[in-house]
Amino acid sequence: MSSISVPPPKCLQKPLTVPYRHMFGPGPSNVPSRILEAGVNPVIGHMHPEIFEIMNDIKSGIQYMFQTQNKMTLAVSGTGHSAMECAIFNAVEPGDSVLVAVNGIWGERAAEMAERIGARVNTIVAPPGGCFTIEEMEKALSKHRPVLLFVAHGESSTGVLHPLDGIGQLCHKYNCLFLVDSVASIGGAPVYMDQQEIDILYTGSQKVLNAPPGTAPISFSERACQKIFSRRTKPVSFYLDLSWLANYWGCDGKPSRLPSVCEFVCESLGLENSWERHLKVAEYFHAGLESMGLKLFVKEKRLRLPTVTTIVAPYGYDWKEITSYIMKTHNLEISGGLRPSVGLVLRVGLMGCNSSRENVDMVLAALKDALKHCHKSKV
Ligand code: PMP
Repeated sequence: MSSISVPPPKCLQKPLTVPYRHMFGPGPSNVPSRILEAGVNPVIGHMHPEIFEIMNDIKSGIQYMFQTQNKMTLAVSGTGHSAMECAIFNAVEPGDSVLVAVNGIWGERAAEMAERIGARVNTIVAPPGGCFTIEEMEKALSKHRPVLLFVAHGESSTGVLHPLDGIGQLCHKYNCLFLVDSVASIGGAPVYMDQQEIDILYTGSQKVLNAPPGTAPISFSERACQKIFSRRTKPVSFYLDLSWLANYWGCDGKPSRLPSVCEFVCESLGLENSWERHLKVAEYFHAGLESMGLKLFVKEKRLRLPTVTTIVAPYGYDWKEITSYIMKTHNLEISGGLRPSVGLVLRVGLMGCNSSRENVDMVLAALKDALKHCHKSKV
């Protein structure tokens, strides 16, 4: 064989052009130029001293964002799903009992991941838009005696912000680890990992953090590390094995074998200001929606996720026509529901730099325009 039979593709010979869009769906959000510019830095070696310094800075940023002193704090090279698997694959062994609070798609997914590695999975299920009381959690914990409880803090499929206070303490009463998904909430709503006794907390980079997808911050408490490092079996994934990751990130006190390179950029606004801004902007948005006659899907104000708003799908309209009209006419992405909320809601994400009154006004104007121009059935 001497000649190649697959020629270089023509499509790769022209420059790449990507349009600008207002990314107001549940993520990814827009990336500000300061962060985009960080991506043009040169690539350097994975053992160069500057990389260790960058990784240490990233670790400090995550500890601040998560409000934790955990030594075992790092970023997985992958999207939020990779951190989800990193948490579950490391903390759970085949045969372990796992309890998952399901009030949307992220609980469903966590349950599926745990099932795939042979855990005995039990769920408590709330309807879309709902969440769980401490009493319901306690009943399930005492019944199933799990090694791990999963809760999504920001359930982006339904727009619910799950209260976290008291759950960690409860888990520890039952000798159970508390795992929290904060992909859609971190930076936009308060989370205090140490004070709330969360054992494993993870997030993603492409929402409030306004970075490109592909970096997933994660942190493990001492209690979580004890369970993980006394496993009888090896985790099913090599790439996500915490003993390797811990060593790459200098979290295990041993000489590093090989660091993995992640890029991560932290908002300079300060956590409290960021929480406050997301809350204020969300309240302004919600008032605007209600004054247009639209209804919010999450009835109780304190349970509304300030980053991703779910609006009851306007009666008589096809939600797909609304989202595609807004994309075509306003160059703006909003989305429909996801799994349990499909057909029930429209979802609007205003995260990080996108969380502003100007953007709220833009979305409200686009929605008004869509409701005027999209087809409304008479029934
Ligand atoms: N959990 C939640 C709550 C999310 O909103 C998402 C992303 N929509 C994920 C997990 C998965 O993250 P990714 O898409 O980055 O893999």
